[in-house]
Amino acid sequence: MTKSDVEMSPVSAISGGAVQRPVEAPALAEALEDWLGDPELESNSISFVRALELDERDELPAAGINQVRAFGFNRYFVPEWLGGDLRAAEDILMLTRVIARRDMNVAVSESTQVWMMLAWIGGDAEQQAKYAATVLRGGVVPCLAYSEPGHGADLAANRFVATPDGSQYVLSGEKWPINRGRTSTHVVLLGTTGNDEVPAKRKQSMFLVDRSQVISGEVTGVPRVPTYGLRGCDISGVAFNDARVDASARLGAEGEGLELALRGLLITRTFCTGLSLGTGDTMLRAVSGFLSDRVLYDGPASEIPYVSESLANAYLSMLVAECESLVAMRGLHLYTEQFSIWGNLAKVQVARLVDFNSKALSRTLGARYFMRAPEHAGTFQKMLRDGAVVSVFDGSEPVCLDSIALQLPALAKAHGKDQDEDWRTLYDLRAELPAFEPDRVSVFGRGRDATFASLPALISRLAELSPSAGCDEDRLAVLRAQAEQLRQELDALLERVHEVRRWSAAQPAGPSASAKTTPPRLIRVAEELSALHAKVAALGIWLFNRDHLGEFFADGEWLQAALARKQIHQYEAGDLQPSTTWKLFTQMNLQRTNNEFFSIRTVRLAEPGAREASQDHESAVA
Ligand SMILES: Cc1cc2nc3c(=O)[nH]c(=O)nc-3n(C[C@H](O)[C@H](O)[C@H](O)COP(=O)(O)OP(=O)(O)OC[C@H]3O[C@@H](n4cnc5c(N)ncnc54)[C@H](O)[C@@H]3O)c2cc1C
Repeated sequence: MTKSDVEMSPVSAISGGAVQRPVEAPALAEALEDWLGDPELESNSISFVRALELDERDELPAAGINQVRAFGFNRYFVPEWLGGDLRAAEDILMLTRVIARRDMNVAVSESTQVWMMLAWIGGDAEQQAKYAATVLRGGVVPCLAYSEPGHGADLAANRFVATPDGSQYVLSGEKWPINRGRTSTHVVLLGTTGNDEVPAKRKQSMFLVDRSQVISGEVTGVPRVPTYGLRGCDISGVAFNDARVDASARLGAEGEGLELALRGLLITRTFCTGLSLGTGDTMLRAVSGFLSDRVLYDGPASEIPYVSESLANAYLSMLVAECESLVAMRGLHLYTEQFSIWGNLAKVQVARLVDFNSKALSRTLGARYFMRAPEHAGTFQKMLRDGAVVSVFDGSEPVCLDSIALQLPALAKAHGKDQDEDWRTLYDLRAELPAFEPDRVSVFGRGRDATFASLPALISRLAELSPSAGCDEDRLAVLRAQAEQLRQELDALLERVHEVRRWSAAQPAGPSASAKTTPPRLIRVAEELSALHAKVAALGIWLFNRDHLGEFFADGEWLQAALARKQIHQYEAGDLQPSTTWKLFTQMNLQRTNNEFFSIRTVRLAEPGAREASQDHESAVA
């Protein structure tokens, strides 16, 4: 690719010039890759070295954020029908992945754009038009202010007040810890509008406050809190002191805030998978690159059988994580109403796949895991710290599992009652999708989950498959048995829901003073369900895309290895056949040396040594 190509693609696309913006998400990711340049090149705004330096100084990566903005990242959070470029949920996944693989501080600081989605979910037409225009003008830094120091995940206990006063509200209270608390221009917050007689669920309302439009009173930043990872991020808080805002800042009806908040989180949790995929990619790339250059026992250290298998397994986990993420992105278009379970399943499982990898990769990296060695300039450890946040924020893993657990009875009840459908649109990555309409998301999806519902049809499709060059009758027989086992495991798991509930009901009342009573055994079912979900997603993606993703993908050895895992994110030494290890290891190395994402598809990274695109065109997108 020439420099002029690099400069042309994204800017021309966004500014409505001669070149159209990429239509497919992988091409869009490649355009952003080219725009940001090679992260190994120190002079680029988002290089690994610079990211680490700023992180160590607890400094917001301003140049990197500017470079991402100049690409028009914000436009991908405004739906097309409001003038933006949000066409496919997968676009957001892929753009986030591209940024997160370089620097989570940039990804987490700038992807707060996603919170403006609350206006598309809960706002009226006037508010939507206003906020869309604001976001598209650029320079908007939203933050999400739900958490309060004393209440954590118990949002219903929040005490921040929003007192109605004529055509205005007076806001008072503190939100903490908040990403972009100090540096935001807009705050999406929950405030109590109901009195003590109103049920807790209906007490709070949602507001989208433009800090520059506060009529009187004060909005101030709460000091930043030093963090374990994301050290360059503005993790702080925001305090309102009798801050008067126009009533038009309220999104949705009075009392609807908590419901709106939960609906928004179901979508943003699904997008968190992009953060995991990005950090997971860099960790595997750093470790496998280092070990293939390191010579021990007369050969590359990466080819010590124990090491190769460990890397092969990490690669396999990345493929499964991608399958789960891609199906979820497609599901957001097709089955938006079902995300009360699905959004939690996807966030939990993709983070688990990457988190397990990060521990295994730390061991595989060896002593350098414990050093800030020049070979990877501490980037591995930074990704390890930063990536760990995904299972902590935006609904921690226990909170997501609790939410799934509470919906298990409905899932068990609906199980087996779904109508068969043509599942091609869900799984075939080439199939056209209907528009993504975030406002269709619901707090209660009535126990429906399209991925699980598709399993019988996937099993039938597998039964009809003919052997092919890389996938002979023996492989097909194993895959068919594995798919059948998946069905049995799912049936048994949902049967356990009833058993656990009966068992719990029979237990004597304990001494616990908590109003939260979800039995840990039900949480365990939710965990196992998340793992099964990713297996079914991988099976569906394989069945519908074998004819266009190359031999490695089509022959299904990777899928067989994935389905053979007990819990999809966990693996142990000796799990893989040596031939399977070698196949996975070779494909991983091929993608690494070809400069591609670790992916079931071919998605090109920035060329080695590529400089970032110039921002001369910035005015065109500002
Ligand atoms: C880097 C970072 C950025 C953040 N950014 C934001 C932001 O931008 N906006 C925002 O509003 N908040 C933000 N938060 C807050 C974050 O969402 C918190 O995780 C949340 O407020 C929960 O609080 P807590 O983790 O202190 O745990 P607590 O809620 O105090 O929980 C204490 C313990 O109880 C467990 N627990 C809580 N609820 C359940 C449940 N339902 N089921 C089972 N176990 C449960 C927890 O897992 C934990 O073990 C951020 C946090 C971090 C670390």
